Amino acid sequence: MKKIVLIPPASRYRSLLKRSRVGTLMWPPRSEQTGMTSIYASRGCPYACAYCDARQVWGIGVRWRHADKVVDELKAIRDAYGINTAFFVDLTFNSDREKLFDICRKLEKADLGISWYVLLRPGNPENRITVDRPMLEAMRNAGCIKIGFGVETLSPIIAKDLRRSSINGYLVKLMRWMDELGLLSKAFLIIGHPKETKGYYEELRSYLLELGADELRISFLVPFPGTPLWDKYKGSLPVNVGYEDYTTFRPLMPHPLFSVDELTEIRLCLLKDYYYSSQYRDRVKAKIGRYFHFKQSFKEFMDCVSDSISGNNLLQMEILNPIQRKNTYRESPNNRMNSDLKKLALF
Ligand code: SF4
Repeated sequence: MKKIVLIPPASRYRSLLKRSRVGTLMWPPRSEQTGMTSIYASRGCPYACAYCDARQVWGIGVRWRHADKVVDELKAIRDAYGINTAFFVDLTFNSDREKLFDICRKLEKADLGISWYVLLRPGNPENRITVDRPMLEAMRNAGCIKIGFGVETLSPIIAKDLRRSSINGYLVKLMRWMDELGLLSKAFLIIGHPKETKGYYEELRSYLLELGADELRISFLVPFPGTPLWDKYKGSLPVNVGYEDYTTFRPLMPHPLFSVDELTEIRLCLLKDYYYSSQYRDRVKAKIGRYFHFKQSFKEFMDCVSDSISGNNLLQMEILNPIQRKNTYRESPNNRMNSDLKKLALF
């Protein structure tokens, strides 16, 4: 295998970069993004969550690129294509604290004028905290505007089963730091574990309001082939499961208490109850009051949320990629990011 330092930057195409957007909540808002690139600083993840196939894809361990290479690549993309938004596709951008700070220092110095979005893991399986306020500050100073956190489950028992952490109280504090620092937050959750009950979903509903993330993604637990979860549950999956059934947007694992339709409805209700709550509205108002530039970002995002919820179209659309979405994306000369895109929905 080639050493990662020897692998040249990916080929990029102007028309794709110029049409790509961070499609969910973001600043600049989707309508003001001049193009988006994905980029990575590291490959692999040091963890081994029971439902994740990262090790099957990337092997064990993490390989980091040199910080200078990452900054140079981003600068070259900006200069060549005029993009103002980036998505770091690293599985766990904070898997090495020193390297994260190194990249952030260099990005801050380079002052590229690019807003970026990235994913962090907030705690390890032994419940040791892996994100703190200085880390968030360093990222903000380097141009980061949005961070996604794997919250996944409230239950310590399920967290253990999935090899996740259980640091619910700390996550609430983390979200308040995000608000104070003018960063946009996204919380990732998983539902559908066989140990979940009606009471669990009630508890989750209340916790989400307390957590107060700007954006939620709620996925269904799916035993992807090759993962420890697959080994455990493959015998209980429905017969004739096809490749297309392995999606986190539809329940696949049998649940002892809920049908597929009931779980689907639970997910929709959790999202509705969150986004349409007075608590969410008040905190968005407060955030915009403090950081007025987010106003248009929340407006465009909430338009998509209402379209999605009213159309019951819960297809996840993290990043608008014109190739993957070619059946639904139609570029119009008058209105590139037209209203059809909103119908794709986003959670
Ligand atoms: S932290 Fe994320 S990438 Fe790493 S194993 Fe867990 S789910 Fe996969």
